[in-house]
Amino acid sequence: MRHTLTSQLWLFTLIAVSMTAVASPGPTPAAPQTPLPPPKDVPFPGAITVAVEASDLQRRIVRVHETVRGVNPHTILLYPQWLPGTHAPEGPIDRFAGLKITANGKAVPWTRDPVEVFAFHVAVPAGVTSIDVEFQYLSPTSGKVGPLEISDHVLMVEWNSVVLYPAGYFARQIPVTASLTLPTGWKFGSALETDSVNGAQTTFKRTSLATLIDSPVYAGDHALRVDLDPGAAVPVHLDVFADRESLLALTADEIAAHRALVQQAYKLFGSHHYAHYDFLYSLSDQVQQQGLEHHQSSEDGGDPESFTEWTKTAFERDLLPHEFTHSWNGKFRRPADLWTPNFNVPMRDGLLWVYEGQTNYWGNVLAARSGLLTHQQALDSLAQVAAYYAEEAGRQWRSVADTTNDEIINPRHPMPWRTYQRFEDYYEEGQLIWLEADTLIRSLSRGARSLDDFAKAFFGINDGSFTTVTYTFNDVVQALNAVEPYDWADFLRKRLDGVALPAPLEGIRRGGYQLVYTDTPSELSKNADDQRKRVNLSNSLGVNLDDKDGTIAEVVWGSPAFAAQLTESTQILAVNGNAYSADLLKEAIRAAKDGKAPIELIVKNGDRFKVVSIDYHGGLRYPHLVRDESTPALLDDILAPRP
Ligand SMILES: [Zn+2]
Repeated sequence: MRHTLTSQLWLFTLIAVSMTAVASPGPTPAAPQTPLPPPKDVPFPGAITVAVEASDLQRRIVRVHETVRGVNPHTILLYPQWLPGTHAPEGPIDRFAGLKITANGKAVPWTRDPVEVFAFHVAVPAGVTSIDVEFQYLSPTSGKVGPLEISDHVLMVEWNSVVLYPAGYFARQIPVTASLTLPTGWKFGSALETDSVNGAQTTFKRTSLATLIDSPVYAGDHALRVDLDPGAAVPVHLDVFADRESLLALTADEIAAHRALVQQAYKLFGSHHYAHYDFLYSLSDQVQQQGLEHHQSSEDGGDPESFTEWTKTAFERDLLPHEFTHSWNGKFRRPADLWTPNFNVPMRDGLLWVYEGQTNYWGNVLAARSGLLTHQQALDSLAQVAAYYAEEAGRQWRSVADTTNDEIINPRHPMPWRTYQRFEDYYEEGQLIWLEADTLIRSLSRGARSLDDFAKAFFGINDGSFTTVTYTFNDVVQALNAVEPYDWADFLRKRLDGVALPAPLEGIRRGGYQLVYTDTPSELSKNADDQRKRVNLSNSLGVNLDDKDGTIAEVVWGSPAFAAQLTESTQILAVNGNAYSADLLKEAIRAAKDGKAPIELIVKNGDRFKVVSIDYHGGLRYPHLVRDESTPALLDDILAPRP
């Protein structure tokens, strides 16, 4: 269709008149802030030298002296904001202080960007090409301020906390020489290569900013280094740092299981993507217990008694297999929209059900294959996951795909109703989806192929290369189809985007097992409760609480405790008229099963007390997987060590 000139003019006049007519009184927006220069894939024409002093164990002040060569009057320095591994803008800018910049001994003014508050505009005088930068990183002094990183015996240095870098360049294009001063006599572990040692100061070989930030240092005065692949050309070490020397007592069987982990991972992936790998393992009840993946190392905070109470700490035994798997799934192969060229470009987390979900799957499978978990412990761990999703109320309104945004929405702050809000479910629901995919491939191929073949084909490429290869949803679908032709796009999208679907337990059923409940917890679950000093009644009363003082950590949405209007942080003082104890509460649940009387509690929240009746008669309920003899035990095959 063709408009005449006259009708176009008439239309233009009409629009202009109507736009004038709807303009409202009041302010109009200021001109937007000039955006930061986007990073370019060209060499930074200079280099960074950063010297970090991390020896102030009491005040936990980490001092940083940095020289940046190659600056100009337009230089912008960035404090890393978007951190790989956390997939979120969690750089600790609130603990960054004392910034002073000088050139040739004279102060150089700086101003913070009012929109990008991790960016500092530096007024470098004309002709000056090198600046000296000084600041402190104020590491948390108590748990109230943040998770501790420094104790009397263990400390961790994450380089993203202690470096400013120039905007405008890919992180891999910025050369850095870093040095670290530790308390005298302390040992350390890191993926970094040592260049020289001068007393308590270690200088590392020059590397890129990308590799530096991917290579944290753990240190301590009670340290142990275990060779997990003796004689290998590409070494793997377990570097343990503990509160006390006695916590370092690894048995021969424990070492053997960790060595088997390395071999089972090689059998699964058929490759490696590091020059050497270091598990940086802290055993401390003070510094934070976290798992954080890196390409050639991982930060692994375990229960301090991980080795000395081996059976009791089995509930977290998938930690090392999970973080090790990330060297392949997450670091070497990464979702294309999650990979970013520097640390101040936003990440998109939509494929975390592969990055974290399949890693959670392999973490548990490799734990079983290596003997870090017994077969029964692996089943008990899976039963817990299955029971959580069988009853999670949030599945009624929110897809697992939507939960991939959770790291950005909530950086792991406590939540009032986790089971309704949902939280990072792409890990464990992702694990169940991948179990379903694995059992499906095994069924369709009559046992000829499995998800192991996908792992080898997808993560095992370019053996020995450290260069990250990115992927998209379609790449995942294509790789699955190459292993076993099926409508994988539909399979995945239904499970990822679906709302109010039945719990994803098909992989367990097809694996030859059923989820059942009994009145006795599994040994794994009981030990987890003992070790965490918790009472987990999630599947019965609907509470998880402190075993000693009865303070509720979590109330399950839709549970009997929810109906009785209990909330987290409420303390149970009395059960049926008697002072609270964990045993008394369990006994009351047992007794109510055979009667009609409700369970009566006296509870306290702040300085308010009340009496609560819970009309619950379902008895104690704990999840287990039991063998269904009518179906082949595919799950047993999955968990069995590869020969
Ligand atoms: Zn992970």
